[in-house]
Amino acid sequence: MTPSSTQPEACPDCGAPLQAIKLFAHGPESLVGLALDSDVTFYTADGAERGTWSGKYTIDGQVQAYMCTSCRRIFLYGEPVQE
Ligand SMILES: [Zn+2]
Repeated sequence: MTPSSTQPEACPDCGAPLQAIKLFAHGPESLVGLALDSDVTFYTADGAERGTWSGKYTIDGQVQAYMCTSCRRIFLYGEPVQE
């Protein structure tokens, strides 16, 4: 994952480099200690509702996450879906 031209090269707070990170939701663990983790990859409009038949949200775009290597602030960027 490489930053696009809209993303800062360095942390705007302290100037240190940003590194790409992966956000995920940690699923509940089963009786044998296994969990189903999910990547937090997409976004949709605030207030969006799940599809009646699919149960899924409409994908408006993808989320890219970066963390400052010094102050650990996390930055999120949206990449709209190309239509
Ligand atoms: Zn920083």
